[in-house]
Amino acid sequence: MSNEREVIGIHAEAKRGNPLAHVFDELTRFCRARSLFMLHYCTGCGAIELPPAMTSRFDMERLGIQPMVTPRQADILLVTGYVSVKTLKRIILTYEQMSAPKYVIGICSCTVNGGMYWQSYATAKVLKAYLPVDMYIAGCMPRPEAVIAGLRALIDDIEADRAESWKRYYQHYDHYLGNQQSLFGDDWQTPTDILAEAEHYGLLGEHTRGKHTALLERHQRPLEALEMRLRVPEEPE
Ligand code: SF4
Repeated sequence: MSNEREVIGIHAEAKRGNPLAHVFDELTRFCRARSLFMLHYCTGCGAIELPPAMTSRFDMERLGIQPMVTPRQADILLVTGYVSVKTLKRIILTYEQMSAPKYVIGICSCTVNGGMYWQSYATAKVLKAYLPVDMYIAGCMPRPEAVIAGLRALIDDIEADRAESWKRYYQHYDHYLGNQQSLFGDDWQTPTDILAEAEHYGLLGEHTRGKHTALLERHQRPLEALEMRLRVPEEPE
């Protein structure tokens, strides 16, 4: 690990002395900010504002943003309203499958604090307790203009190298995992090896591991193939 840090340090040092590296970084950020694939996870009523935001009236494609149906290719995860405990599991599975850098936007007041469902036993109240959220677009529900304004703000943040919440998931994984375990139970696990990814990105920090990752390691099971259930039912005699 220390070797890896030394190599990163040498690269950073070489970069400081090379103005072209900065130009290339800026160009990369510019291109990244203007070619975003968005996975819209339509959990609540806020989803109804997306068709006008996507289509000819507001036309989010002019900003370089277009919908994407798979997490592997998506850059933005858009959560559009209240999140039930059951749905939150799927949101976390989806988020962890996206490759970095990745960005999360919470649309609607329900993602901020539970909104009108704040007393519901079945609703996860604060999205950012379970995932790092880059931006909230509040309202019940926010209009398409607000959605477009939020996306523009995210583009500015990516271009200015400020949209770095995804790194927090690796650096503070024990915190996020602890909140997930308190909601889903001690044996909560996902197929993605976040600790290995944190190491891969050089983001293993002092808060990556802790008592919650230790609990995860105790309960973790290797993925097993699902049982095939294609047997044709027998005909009645
Ligand atoms: S904030 Fe309002 S519109 Fe949005 S999901 Fe909650 S109840 Fe629905």
